[in-house]
Amino acid sequence: MIEQVVQSDPDCLFCKIVDGKIPSRMVYQDDALYAFHDIHPWAPVHFLIIPKLHIPAMAQLTEAHAALMGRMMVLVPKLALQEGCKPYPEGGFRLLANTGAEGGQEVHHLHLHVMGGPRPWLRG
Ligand code: AMP
Ligand code: ZN
Repeated sequence: MIEQVVQSDPDCLFCKIVDGKIPSRMVYQDDALYAFHDIHPWAPVHFLIIPKLHIPAMAQLTEAHAALMGRMMVLVPKLALQEGCKPYPEGGFRLLANTGAEGGQEVHHLHLHVMGGPRPWLRG
């Protein structure tokens, strides 16, 4: 059976952010992706990149999402610099995708955490 991925889940926090029903501090958006500052930052720079499409987690990815995920990955270094991370190799950033309960995922809409800036950090 093919697993259905809904465009938007009315009960999903990040879908509500994409729809503008819950406010966020936007970092970037295009037709398929949205990036915004994490409400509880662990690091001087801490933002999330999400697909506008409601995909619950990395666990649901299929070949059909390869181009979308590629776009997300290519965006990471660009937005990290834009948000104040120093360039590689002295600066850089940490990329995190919590997946499932044992992966520490709390919001079930696929997201990449991008963290950076001078240490020490609160976590990570
Ligand atoms: P995760 O544990 O990977 O599911 O992390 C979810 C992240 O979403 C956490 O770092 C939260 O601080 C962040 N978060 C939750 N609600 C909001 C919100 N309304 N705006 C921005 N970030 C949020
Ligand atoms: Zn969602």
